[in-house]
Amino acid sequence: AIDMEEEYEEIEEDIFKTKVTYNVVFVTAEAAPYSKTGGLGDVCGSLPIALARRGHRVMVVSPRYLNGTHSEKNFSGACDLNQCIMVFCFGGAQEVAFFHEYRDGVDWVFVDHPSYHRPGNPYGDSHGCFGDNQFRFTLLCHAACEAPLVLPLGGCTYGEKCLFLVNDWHAGLVPVLLASKYRPFGVYREARSILVIHNLAHQGVEPAASYKNLGLAPEWYGALGWVFPPWARTHALDPGEAVNILKGAVVTADRLLTVSEGYSWEITTVDGGYGLHDLLSNRKSVLNGITNGIDVVEWDPSLDEHIASHYTADDLSGKVQCKISLQKELGLPVRPEVPLIGFIGRLDYQKGIDLIRLATPELMQDDVQFVMLGSGDPQYEDWMRTAESDYTDKFRGWVGFNVPISHRITAGCDILLMPSRFEPCGLNQLYAMRYGTIPVVHATGGLRDTVQNFNPYAEQVSGEEGTGWLFSPLTKESMVGAVKTAILTYREHKESWEGLMRRGMKRDFTWESAAKQYEQVFEWAFIDPP
Ligand code: ADP
Repeated sequence: AIDMEEEYEEIEEDIFKTKVTYNVVFVTAEAAPYSKTGGLGDVCGSLPIALARRGHRVMVVSPRYLNGTHSEKNFSGACDLNQCIMVFCFGGAQEVAFFHEYRDGVDWVFVDHPSYHRPGNPYGDSHGCFGDNQFRFTLLCHAACEAPLVLPLGGCTYGEKCLFLVNDWHAGLVPVLLASKYRPFGVYREARSILVIHNLAHQGVEPAASYKNLGLAPEWYGALGWVFPPWARTHALDPGEAVNILKGAVVTADRLLTVSEGYSWEITTVDGGYGLHDLLSNRKSVLNGITNGIDVVEWDPSLDEHIASHYTADDLSGKVQCKISLQKELGLPVRPEVPLIGFIGRLDYQKGIDLIRLATPELMQDDVQFVMLGSGDPQYEDWMRTAESDYTDKFRGWVGFNVPISHRITAGCDILLMPSRFEPCGLNQLYAMRYGTIPVVHATGGLRDTVQNFNPYAEQVSGEEGTGWLFSPLTKESMVGAVKTAILTYREHKESWEGLMRRGMKRDFTWESAAKQYEQVFEWAFIDPP
């Protein structure tokens, strides 16, 4: 048997030697640890490294934000390449510079421009989104298309035979530029592009008149042209005409990907398609879903530098220390036996915060503790502060974006609540499972794909496989019902609870398997000519 194993290893090595490798260019508004507001940052910080480890040459192009949330410190490893280019858009020539850091086998390229240097997060500040985001991300896309041609990274450019991974609307002009500005002139004929949809709800929609600013040929208007549904128009005579950058990417990218399989189906439905369902359905033959992995080094309860005590699936004893330490840090009564529920995420309608607000009085009647970490919609930030004073010894609402606290909540809680209305993949439920914290989630998108519902009867009969609870429909009643079932199991069925914890902790969340699936899609992208 040992010989066979060795033989297989040799064969695998041979495959590795002869396998096709690609020049991959990620274009993204966020890449952790340089910049992050959500899952997009996590994915574009980890997947490039996983692909580089598998032999590909990988570049990530994103803005160099100096904005308070992200500072010089985040980009301290990146040097100025002293190579500026002119981008022709918005009625003039804009000069952008490039910074570069080679780390973990990946070329991290940062586009520098004064519009990325202002207080706030990458997209806006406390007053809302920046009014010139279309301009800021148009610059990113033009610069990203030039980077493989002009930057001699490690001594030579990436060249024209690239595979662009275009992430969300911010990068959406890239495939449109390839099709309209480069390919007709013989450049990038052998390049391919894959649009990766992390969140279809944001599409980069602006008035039609802004088209002339984008640096695209007039005859390509149809690719981005968009008509608002009547209810979204400002007045009866408004024709509702707009440009929609994500739509442009959907129609021009060679292939489409979503960050979970469930979401790739949801976006072709009227409810999940945000007006793009017909277009996406028409492109079904090139649409796939690959579930995100997680950074299993950053998120590892046996090594995590942010948490009070370390633990593993085989020795869970450290988890209660994390809970006690979290209760102390939050100023909650130190009671290791009480169920501690957590929530981490953007305070956004998408995340079902309204449902949590509605259910909190009922949940607080029970002997439980609840901690929420998040920032976003000011009305929910205010509500979290009020709830804290209403339920002094049970509720904590931490307003802000804080990665170390997010690790401590993930480790210290027993239950993680995610009542997302829709969830393209969702990462917090994956982090939770890895930390033995049981997810209670709405059965949607990536949450349905990644959390297996616990069934105590199956546990007795056939050996259980559940890792948490899924609820549906998305109502206060069904959410509270699921949380109460979880609490009951926690209090009265310790063995089942530990089974849930261990199964979650032993799941394979590495990027390795996702990276292999990406390779398959890369191969398909090059089979068909554009
Ligand atoms: P989304 O991308 O829709 O925001 P995901 O679940 O895919 O949701 O990813 C969210 C990521 O952002 C996770 O890594 C999560 O821990 C992190 N995050 C969200 N809000 C906060 C916060 N307030 N503080 C720290 N990390 C946060």
